[in-house]
Amino acid sequence: MIELVNLTKTFGSGKTATTVLDDISFTVDAREILAVVGPSGAGKSTLARCLNLLERPTSGQVIVGGEDLTAMGAARLRDARRRIGTVFQSASLLSRRTAAENVALPLEYLGATKASTRARVGELLDRVGLLDKAGHYPHQLSGGQRQRVGIARALALTPSVLLSDEATSGLDPDSTETYLRLLTELRDDLRLAVVFITHEMDTVVRVADTVGRIDGGRIVEHGAITDLVLDP
Ligand code: ADP
Ligand code: ADP
Repeated sequence: MIELVNLTKTFGSGKTATTVLDDISFTVDAREILAVVGPSGAGKSTLARCLNLLERPTSGQVIVGGEDLTAMGAARLRDARRRIGTVFQSASLLSRRTAAENVALPLEYLGATKASTRARVGELLDRVGLLDKAGHYPHQLSGGQRQRVGIARALALTPSVLLSDEATSGLDPDSTETYLRLLTELRDDLRLAVVFITHEMDTVVRVADTVGRIDGGRIVEHGAITDLVLDP
């Protein structure tokens, strides 16, 4: 599970300081999908980058597996960040690498052996239904397939948290449906805590267990999907 405690992010200082995230707190349990929804400019991508520590929050904590990632030095943080897998908008795969080679990247950085990497990559591509596309380059894949390769890469180091940052934006309805179904499967099979960030309200009702609505850098509403009245 992942817990955000009083997270704030301020850019700049003095008179030009802008508070983009203001006292954000929530918990996502294992086997839960929290959808974070909100309009453009609400702070969603800043939240995503603070949540996976690509960016240091100004204050507050990001707690995963009982450990506060914001309190860690660079070396420990590098290790701990493995517990959070991220799927980015438009997947951000390396274009000169095949699907299999993209999924292998995190394992290579870790120094895994060729044989174990190959086995693991096969397992991951199979899980996202793309084993037959292992040798395809990103431009030979559809947008939806690229996002599923992105999921496989995000899962390579067996994270407990999966962060999906606007990953269905720009996908057609069928690809979106496949992506959402995969997320719910992963939630159940791998007991992941999933943070699903989106501006698309119609995807939320199909995938979320809980919803946090963000506006002006604050969580203005948070609860079970069944309790929320969702006005697009
Ligand atoms: P969203 O993803 O919901 O569209 P963002 O997190 O991209 O929202 O942006 C939220 C607000 O934070 C915007 O008003 C944006 O201008 C501001 N912002 C984002 N990054 C920076 C930055 N590096 N410096 C100053 N302001 C920023
Ligand atoms: P083929 O072109 O023979 O049908 P694939 O499309 O299955 O082969 O794979 C093409 C490329 O992807 C090969 O270079 C292979 O090394 C690589 N590859 C396939 N499966 C895996 C895997 N499980 N792990 C790592 N690389 C793989």
